[in-house]
Amino acid sequence: MKVIFLGNGEAFDERYPNHSHLVFSDKTVLMLDCGDSAVRQLWKYTKDHSLTDALYITHRHSDHLFGIPALLGRMLEEERKKELTIICSEQLKADIERLTEHAYFGIDSYGFKINFIIAEDGKSIKFQDLKLSFAKTGHTSYNLAIRIDDNKKIVCYSGDGPSDENTEKIYKDADILMHECYMFDKKFLGHVVAVDLFEMAKRQNVKCLALAHFKRAFNDETRKKVKEAIPGIGLKIILPEPLEEYEV
Ligand SMILES: [Zn+2]
Ligand SMILES: [Zn+2]
Repeated sequence: MKVIFLGNGEAFDERYPNHSHLVFSDKTVLMLDCGDSAVRQLWKYTKDHSLTDALYITHRHSDHLFGIPALLGRMLEEERKKELTIICSEQLKADIERLTEHAYFGIDSYGFKINFIIAEDGKSIKFQDLKLSFAKTGHTSYNLAIRIDDNKKIVCYSGDGPSDENTEKIYKDADILMHECYMFDKKFLGHVVAVDLFEMAKRQNVKCLALAHFKRAFNDETRKKVKEAIPGIGLKIILPEPLEEYEV
């Protein structure tokens, strides 16, 4: 598999686009979250508006889904014909339908089929060549982290929020875990600090931990502290930049 890190920022950061990734397997291209600035990163990465097979949305905060109306609108203008699958929880499906209806009122067809698949906490689904598993995190909004398994490699993505015992299970033996990280060690409701992530990733035998979504006012400081800590942790840790590529 291959990952393109589309964005690495939190919700309101003017310097870094929203946390989002593109995951490539042999047969599937899956976009993880679609915030309002993440969708522009996708357009910078590719002009192929049929590239993405599916979109997975972790939770209902704007930095993770408010790019959807623009994504669909541009696909309509670029005359996409290929079906698009949106994978999300049952609650989110209704939210996304309301959002798209509100954003471009009156559009009843995008010219391509939109197919929803419901993600559930503790369950797995099969999508094309991928097995996708989901687990709830402790975020302020209902958030399902995802494990993507193509039978060769494992890519995981947290969305937002700390893990409990059940969440951690889906990160086990991940070849890469893209995880939100708000601060280095100062706790913040519904988010994760780097020092806790280091321990969790080691416990779950994660091969590479990719950190993003730093709180904007502390972004430079947190990056500096993480970089200084890396040599002593005994774990591969990266701080991906927007549009960087990672071969899994
Ligand atoms: Zn977020
Ligand atoms: Zn959030």
